[in-house]
Amino acid sequence: MKADKVSIKWKLIGYMVSFVAMEFILLNIFQVFFLDSFYKKIKVGEIKNAAKTIVNIIDDTDNVDYQNTLKNIARESSLSIEVFDSYGNIHYSVDRPFGIASNMTVEEKNNFFTKTKANGGSMLMFEDFDSIKRRSWFKNIPGIEPMPNDNKELSTHNEHNQKNDVQRGKNLIYSQIIEYDNKEMLLLLCTAITPLGATSQIISVTIRYANAILLVFSILLAFVVYRKISKPIMMTNSKAKLLAEGNYNISFNEGGYREISQLNKTLDYAASELSKTEQLQRDLIANISHDLRTPLTMIRGYAEVMRDIPGENSPENIQTIIDETNRLSNLVTDILDISKLQSGVTKLNLKVFSITDSIKSVIERYEKFMGSKGYNVVFEYDKNVYVNADDIKITQVLYNLINNAIKYTGNDKKVIIRQTVDSYRAKIEVVDTGEGIDEEEQKLIWDKYYKAGKNHKRSTVGTGLGLSIVKNIFILHGLKYGVESKKGSGSTFYFYIDAVKIENVEKC
Ligand code: ADP
Repeated sequence: MKADKVSIKWKLIGYMVSFVAMEFILLNIFQVFFLDSFYKKIKVGEIKNAAKTIVNIIDDTDNVDYQNTLKNIARESSLSIEVFDSYGNIHYSVDRPFGIASNMTVEEKNNFFTKTKANGGSMLMFEDFDSIKRRSWFKNIPGIEPMPNDNKELSTHNEHNQKNDVQRGKNLIYSQIIEYDNKEMLLLLCTAITPLGATSQIISVTIRYANAILLVFSILLAFVVYRKISKPIMMTNSKAKLLAEGNYNISFNEGGYREISQLNKTLDYAASELSKTEQLQRDLIANISHDLRTPLTMIRGYAEVMRDIPGENSPENIQTIIDETNRLSNLVTDILDISKLQSGVTKLNLKVFSITDSIKSVIERYEKFMGSKGYNVVFEYDKNVYVNADDIKITQVLYNLINNAIKYTGNDKKVIIRQTVDSYRAKIEVVDTGEGIDEEEQKLIWDKYYKAGKNHKRSTVGTGLGLSIVKNIFILHGLKYGVESKKGSGSTFYFYIDAVKIENVEKC
């Protein structure tokens, strides 16, 4: 492991500090660039809404007390409400906190009226009254500057001016042509824009304090999270080191978050698998050395007898030596097969062949070999089934399964091989009448070097590799396989294989 990798602690603190810094920068950007425009937008919305409400109230002829309602609106929204006609006569006024119409000349009022009408019936301005008065159109001088319309008004000032407007304390003036007393009149609303300079200052300071506190909290939080996450990881790490040293009886069940407890569970599983493998390896060495020693002892014994005692040089004794040598070479072949299959170097050599014929030839080979020993191997089939598979490997499967069935079958020495076909899928079963296999052992027998029930009736010779080879060949072919067995009533090993051609046969 590289020592220069950054610890989670510093990473977390780094993330937290950058987060707070980002947040600080963002808040400041919002405050500097957007606070004024947000404020203005809200104000514009408010004044327009107020205008709408006022028009509705004025239109409502049933509301005899509308003057009071308007007064309330004016008070609540700090708004001056004035209504005057094109001749400049003020018909209604709530000049709270101040009115502007009362400070205009008749001509100015008339100009305001005309301008609003020309602007489409409503007009919005962000200026103080004096500056409006300075406007050329207000003084009715020909060749007037273009009047901003309702929506474009704000954009006619540049950003800088807008900001200054707010800071110097301008007014927001809204005018709208309405019908009042059955005549066309001008509704003039005016509200103050509070200077935001001081507010903005306060917000800045608040943001700074809040961020300082946030920074302290985030560093504390980083430490808490670090302790919560990192401690269990460190515990797991030190235990994993023990595991690597070969201490398999270790338990990883440390608390912590789900991911860490999942990691611990996985390591627990790895520890138990490793200890199983180690046990299996130990068993294998014991098994293999035993399996090697037995035939070697026999071979040496027979050879010595044949050398030392005249007349013992008989064909039977030589046959025994040959048989034992075969056993040795079978054992070595099994070990090589399984290591090749498991290392993944084995490739399938697919071809179409009759699995029915393969079964027949395996049985024939056995019959020659076991003929005199009273075994009854029966093949039940009614079709000749062709499959696309690796015939050598499938023959090895058949050989191993039939070999096991013969080894482990009951006293009646009967073994049945059954081939059935259902919608182009053949099922091959190898049935014996032996003692059967415990349910817990049924899963384990497919493992390498596993030898079940040391209580077999007859002494059996095996490496514990046969079924593992079978399983690997099934997996390589992608075949479904299994075993059905009940203690005391034999076992049935089976697999399914797709048929590519099916021929009828005359008799079973
Ligand atoms: P072995 O060389 O020991 O037979 P296998 O891998 O072929 O190795 O089988 C593993 C174990 O499964 C055997 O030791 C045996 O206990 C059990 N087994 C296999 N086939 C049968 C069977 N037909 N009946 C009962 N037990 C069986």
